[in-house]
Amino acid sequence: MPEIRQCAWCLLVVDGAGRYSLQPGRKIKSATHGICPNCKEQMRAEIEQAA
Ligand SMILES: [Zn+2]
Repeated sequence: MPEIRQCAWCLLVVDGAGRYSLQPGRKIKSATHGICPNCKEQMRAEIEQAA
């Protein structure tokens, strides 16, 4: 069974093509939680704003 990768921020899940495009609408317990490019970019912008 392939591992599920989910963004811990927006909860998007990676599809077969490696893109964060699936929206399960909830946190998947068994998934590996990371951060998608969109949220990463948003966080980076927030950090830069705070600095
Ligand atoms: Zn995200």
